[in-house]
Amino acid sequence: MELHLYDADNRHPRAAELVGDGSLFALGDEKGFMGHRDAGGLLHIYVALKTPADWATSGAIDFTGTGTGTGTGTSTEQAKAALLTYFEGWDDSLRALITDAEGPLVARPIHALPIGHRWQPTPGVTLLGDAAHLMSPFAGEGANLAMIDGADLAAALAAHPDDFGKALRVYEDGMFPRAEEMAAESAANLDLCFTADTPRGLLDFFAAHDAEAARTA
Ligand SMILES: Cc1cc2nc3c(=O)[nH]c(=O)nc-3n(C[C@H](O)[C@H](O)[C@H](O)COP(=O)(O)OP(=O)(O)OC[C@H]3O[C@@H](n4cnc5c(N)ncnc54)[C@H](O)[C@@H]3O)c2cc1C
Repeated sequence: MELHLYDADNRHPRAAELVGDGSLFALGDEKGFMGHRDAGGLLHIYVALKTPADWATSGAIDFTGTGTGTGTGTSTEQAKAALLTYFEGWDDSLRALITDAEGPLVARPIHALPIGHRWQPTPGVTLLGDAAHLMSPFAGEGANLAMIDGADLAAALAAHPDDFGKALRVYEDGMFPRAEEMAAESAANLDLCFTADTPRGLLDFFAAHDAEAARTA
């Protein structure tokens, strides 16, 4: 679920301090909160749960109503209350990210194509971006891949203006392994964030990065 807190420094100082200037991860028991600060003091919060695939439309939480659009409508308040039941006993500062969110809660079910998804060359047709390699956002690379796919496809078409079949092959030969690597990273990071002993794996991950940075400094 995606939530927003606007003008946080002035209107939500506790949340602003909690998220800080970078990113917040508060994970455990295969669920949690992730957040970051966007321009203009906007806090962008994701509340993550591991659920059956149809959970967002199952009625467990009513995401259909937008209330008044200010986050104070009945249906938004009910959705918040329902979401809070998944976080009984969690720190009040984290629960307040839900309570204080403005606007409707937006469900963002996470889907992924199989790692290494490919297709046979098809004359005149190819795919790029999420259509080619949908993955969970845990490598933070989906938009980057979509942009480089577009640039590579354009370059291939420009390089082979008389042979579109060859242009598509050149593009796909570069795109498939790039997407596979990121899809594997994304799947591994998702596992890291939502295992039974989280946040242990995540802490080890960052500690290994720190150790590597110190070694190569
Ligand atoms: C919660 C979340 C967090 C993310 N965080 C990051 C991140 O930190 N970094 C990162 O790089 N990526 C991130 N991503 C992934 C990123 O958003 C996507 O990989 C990226 O938007 C893919 O771009 P795209 O152009 O391929 O597809 P899309 O952005 O999905 O664009 C496809 C467009 O086509 C339109 N469309 C669909 N069908 C039709 C039709 N029949 N006719 C006309 N239009 C149509 C859709 O409405 C849409 O506008 C995140 C994704 C999610 C869900």
